Amino acid sequence: MITTSVVNEAIGKLLPPKALKAMGIDLNASPAKHPKDASPFSLSFQCPDCSHIQHEKRPEVCPICSAGGETFTVLDVGEADSEAKDSVEVTAFDGHQLKWTKEALEELEQIPEELAREQIRLKLEKQTRTRKQTVITKEMVTAALS
Ligand SMILES: [Zn+2]
Repeated sequence: MITTSVVNEAIGKLLPPKALKAMGIDLNASPAKHPKDASPFSLSFQCPDCSHIQHEKRPEVCPICSAGGETFTVLDVGEADSEAKDSVEVTAFDGHQLKWTKEALEELEQIPEELAREQIRLKLEKQTRTRKQTVITKEMVTAALS
């Protein structure tokens, strides 16, 4: 069977994007090649500029830094799932989402004094944001304590 997307794909190999646009053909509009709408809840998108993670569907613009949604990277679903099982998502001081692994939180709980614990927590979240990382691990807590 010859579908529209097959035709578009064939044409896309022969013509430059400008010519396709002039013909009113948008290769990216093919639903067959973009099944994201079929299961909108299994995907996560990450902002390349500020590492903000948007779940479920691609945002029009990043709510944090206003980067275009089309620049977001699609995160591996399997990886996101396994990560979510043993980590806790928090909102950092600057409104970004960060994850603490369970082990990192347990390590943090070892600090008896609440004020000191809070300082380490903030320090690590800031450090993680500065390094453009998204997950705080036990090793990072240990390093912050030493
Ligand atoms: Zn962003």
